[in-house]
Amino acid sequence: MAEVRLKGVTKIFHGGVTAVASCDLSIPDGQFTVLVGPSGCGKSTTLRMIAGLETATSGSIRIGDRVVNDVAPRDRDVAMVFQNYALYPHMNVEKNLRFPLERRRQTSFWRSLLSSTERARRRAETIVIDDRVLNAAKQLEIGEYMHRLPRELSGGQRQRVALGRALVRDPKVFLLDEPLSNLDARLRIAMRSELRQLHRRLGVTMIHVTHDQEEAMSLGDVLVVMKDGVIHQVGPPAEIYDAPADRFVASFVGTPPMNLIEGHVRGTEFVADSGAVLPAPIGAVEGPAVLGIRPESMMIGGTIDATIQSVERLGDRIDVVLDIGGVELTARCESKDGITEGQSCSVAIDTTRLHLFEAAAEGKRLCGDPVATMRGG
Ligand code: ATP
Repeated sequence: MAEVRLKGVTKIFHGGVTAVASCDLSIPDGQFTVLVGPSGCGKSTTLRMIAGLETATSGSIRIGDRVVNDVAPRDRDVAMVFQNYALYPHMNVEKNLRFPLERRRQTSFWRSLLSSTERARRRAETIVIDDRVLNAAKQLEIGEYMHRLPRELSGGQRQRVALGRALVRDPKVFLLDEPLSNLDARLRIAMRSELRQLHRRLGVTMIHVTHDQEEAMSLGDVLVVMKDGVIHQVGPPAEIYDAPADRFVASFVGTPPMNLIEGHVRGTEFVADSGAVLPAPIGAVEGPAVLGIRPESMMIGGTIDATIQSVERLGDRIDVVLDIGGVELTARCESKDGITEGQSCSVAIDTTRLHLFEAAAEGKRLCGDPVATMRGG
């Protein structure tokens, strides 16, 4: 087990693409960290630099007490699980699990034919390998498939074998690159819970990459939200949700996304550019800003006039797109009869859950959500 620390890590590919820009990140020992962000934000490159599959252009990467920039991938004590599983198709499950250990054996089969000492050492090694393979198979409940080929397994079973191949090596750090993205929606959710349980049992440092913010929220102890090679926020899922550091994080995390409205603060009100008047968060300072309202902070029935533009029914919940004085906002509410498209209605907004961001390009968080602010927002 080990802590992972990145200091000023930058990756510029040939051709000048800056995939990761001066990244500082400290991942404590045993933490489940999720790197999340839209496609191309540099999360896989960051993971591959930790694994040693890409070289950092500058900055230092530390695993445990060693700077590993110049250490070969196989000597970094990390195990990577890829999106496409990377199983050997001609080997059965057992051989796939044994392979990483067989490759690292200290003893030679041929020498063991000639020397009894070498034979004894090799036997001892085989016992250790058998034990690790059996243990991994047990942990991941794949013991009954040991003689099947990868193509004879379901996606979820293949994914478990891929995890098993990482597990047998007893690495200090697990690196998981979109390991669930090839699974169907139901299996993905089941595997999330398996991954969390595995992490709890092993207590090992895990770094998981995904572009799916829901997956990130459900898996991570801590999320690292990235865009264009830059880390925008690091924190536990609840903190990222309740107190997003800027407009990008606010719009990226949450389904449906947070409503963001451009305008300005005037006293205790927020006047949208369209002229609509909405409440401003407590502590807002007058001037241009962007107001953020999570869909679940709005409810049908209140004092603000609105028109229902569209309704999407989701079982016990509905997503309602509303027009409030020329501003389009999405509300997520409990399903009610009589909510129909084109109808006029009134709306209430929970003023204790509002967010305010800078109007400037970076869109840094200004204030809002006192609960989150108390937690450090
Ligand atoms: P995705 O979710 O699509 O996998 P990502 O966030 O993991 O995206 P990266 O794969 O790390 O993003 O890529 C970051 C940027 O670096 C992208 O602009 C990508 O096109 C670029 N890039 C990645 N690998 C290379 C390469 N070998 N050569 C040149 N540019 C690359």
